[in-house]
Amino acid sequence: MTEPTDSNPPYDVVIIGGGPAGLTAGMYAARADLRVLAIAGESTVSQVTVTDLIENYPGIPEGINGFDLAERLKTQGVQFGLKTAAGDVTAVTKKRFGDRDGWEIAAGAMRYGALAVIIAAGADWRRLGVPGEERFIGKGVSFCATCDGPFYRNREVAVIGGGDTAIQEALYLTRFAKKVTVVHRRDRLRATAILQKRALGNPKIEFAWNSVVESIEGLDLVQWVRLKDVKTGASRELRADGIFIFIGLIPNTAPFRELVVLDRGGYITVDANMQTSVPGIFACGDCIAKRLRQVVTACGDGATAAFSAQLYVEDLKGEAY
Ligand code: NAP
Repeated sequence: MTEPTDSNPPYDVVIIGGGPAGLTAGMYAARADLRVLAIAGESTVSQVTVTDLIENYPGIPEGINGFDLAERLKTQGVQFGLKTAAGDVTAVTKKRFGDRDGWEIAAGAMRYGALAVIIAAGADWRRLGVPGEERFIGKGVSFCATCDGPFYRNREVAVIGGGDTAIQEALYLTRFAKKVTVVHRRDRLRATAILQKRALGNPKIEFAWNSVVESIEGLDLVQWVRLKDVKTGASRELRADGIFIFIGLIPNTAPFRELVVLDRGGYITVDANMQTSVPGIFACGDCIAKRLRQVVTACGDGATAAFSAQLYVEDLKGEAY
């Protein structure tokens, strides 16, 4: 491992993100004897940490809690020398270190220098944008069933969305709630077949098909949602003590908009080696444009990004072989 000098910034690689993609990249880069820092966001949490059960991670047939998996990934990285920090990254700017091009990463009051950057900033939950949604956050509106599900023992809740997350979390909520109504804007779920089958066969789950939320209402706490049938235009109230919103993701790529090329959805465009449009900047995990967003694909992307960053850094240092 080379020590920092004028032409050698403190880190070979700075990873932005502390989820499965970032931590796997960190583990691989540290194991390749690079000086690596992974910066986990402060105001956003990695989605994996609020996932109750991951049952499709290869090699763990009994399933694993998302928080536990993230902790295990971190331990594994740290064991190879990965350094970690917390902070919201606001900018990545070009910086010269002696005769080498590198990057300065601003996170809160901190500035970190590195030769290469891996963006693994993940994605955040999309909002409905209806009246009552913001006002009732923490008072009945939730984006995390694992965190808030136990508050709804023997109560009635609504889950909004028809994808994997909505259905998986609806199933989880049946442990507590006496009734879970899945509100979906179409008459067919997007979720994977096995989840659909479980949900459709669960006696605690009902479906409000072809329905969208018009507003979330109540006094101090949520009491009902107003639904509109998109086929008939009819409006009705659905009683619900809790509203769990799982309508997809928004990539956490705002700070990188001017830095790298994004697709129309705001996801970072990368090649098969996780190289972005800018040499020295790599990206992986849920924030990149791709088809399948899973923990296993995030980890795979992370390993690839780390290897690409390693080759890039070795080339810069004249250590490539
Ligand atoms: P998603 O697959 O994008 O699904 C979003 C759902 O919300 C869709 O059913 C969509 O309806 C609906 N929706 C979107 N905008 C809406 C709006 N404004 N109003 C009402 N409904 C709206 O998102 P996700 O379920 O969060 O999953 C994200 C990624 O993580 C996916 O790649 C998913 O496969 C993966 N994931 C996998 C697992 C697993 O394998 N167990 C678990 C969780 C997540 P339409 O169907 O009509 O578009």
